[in-house]
Amino acid sequence: MEPLIVSLDERLANPGDTWTLAGHLDEPSYELGDHEFRLPSGIDYDLVLTNAGEGILATGLVRAHVVGTCDRCLEDAAFDVDAEVDGYYLFEEPEQMGEDEDEADFELVAPDNTIDLSGALACALVMETPFVVLCREDCAGLCPVCGANLNEGDCGHASKLAAERERERLAASPFSALAGLDLGEAGEQPSGSPEPKRG
Ligand SMILES: [Zn+2]
Ligand SMILES: [Zn+2]
Repeated sequence: MEPLIVSLDERLANPGDTWTLAGHLDEPSYELGDHEFRLPSGIDYDLVLTNAGEGILATGLVRAHVVGTCDRCLEDAAFDVDAEVDGYYLFEEPEQMGEDEDEADFELVAPDNTIDLSGALACALVMETPFVVLCREDCAGLCPVCGANLNEGDCGHASKLAAERERERLAASPFSALAGLDLGEAGEQPSGSPEPKRG
């Protein structure tokens, strides 16, 4: 994410001072794991900066319309994110850290008296991005045999596959397993469970 540098001026000079800061960023996308999420209308933020004595607290909201990829059918999947921002920028490196203090919980105010809010915004966005992204809750996904998008129609493989599974279940009974054994070729799987093929 592009940096979002804010200069701290006299509005935040004293403990307790606050400064509201709203704006828009034309960020095109962000990544999470190996997934890419597009931001067709960028992101909007609405923040309050507070001088908390030892540092600047940045709280507020970040909003975005996000377009990802459906985990089932691979079509576009859009959702809105409305995430709480929580950033903390210390004026000075703390002299000693408590044993249980999380070192990643803050950044430092830069020597030129600026802070970069992009990390806090990106973090909020990522936190609110669902782990499983679906184009719709009941997305039927892709056919494992032919790859057809089952939301657009039934290719017929699903019912065929169900019938095949039922046959395999019956074939797994002890007697039919004995019948299927080929003692001549050790290591070979009994027939009846072909790999699903595409096309
Ligand atoms: Zn889908
Ligand atoms: Zn199919």
